[in-house]
Amino acid sequence: MTLDDIKKEVRDIPDFPSKGILFKDLTTVFKNAQCIQLLASELHAIYKDKGITKIIGIESRGFVMGSMLSLTLNAGFVPIRKKGKLPADCYEIEYQLEYGSAIIELHKDALNKNDVVLIHDDLLATGGTLAAAIRLVKMAGVKKIYTNTLVELEFLKGKEVIDNDVEFRTLIKY
Ligand code: AMP
Repeated sequence: MTLDDIKKEVRDIPDFPSKGILFKDLTTVFKNAQCIQLLASELHAIYKDKGITKIIGIESRGFVMGSMLSLTLNAGFVPIRKKGKLPADCYEIEYQLEYGSAIIELHKDALNKNDVVLIHDDLLATGGTLAAAIRLVKMAGVKKIYTNTLVELEFLKGKEVIDNDVEFRTLIKY
């Protein structure tokens, strides 16, 4: 099993959730135990020596590998969720989607100034979600921020909206 084999397992769904979007469905990857093992070991190899104290998973597809990585890296797990889902005091940020806008939230007491964090999501498209997540984490104030997705849609140039002081890595590119 290689990352190229995993790429072949990703299922393309045309016109989901709206017309013109080619949705990269990773449920076909996550249901395969060998794929999960390889993704977990590849991510572990990249981040094992970075001193990461917390993995921040972006709702909801970022929770899958994010929580596994928190186990293998011996780090805590912190969710970023859509507005109204987290029960305690939150930082919030509004950002633009293709149509309209969205608000995401992070618990105010989830992070501290000594944390080295890895923000994880399944996929980077336009980069709007990850850029907003970085702004949220900067509101909280941490020592260092790494970011990562399993898949990057390079042609959408999402990396261009990620702050220069934040390292971004991905495993599979289209
Ligand atoms: P963006 O903010 O445009 O980078 O979008 C990233 C978020 O939307 C991620 O949480 C992805 O799960 C989801 N997403 C956006 N576009 C796609 C796509 N073509 N296939 C699968 N997921 C997508």
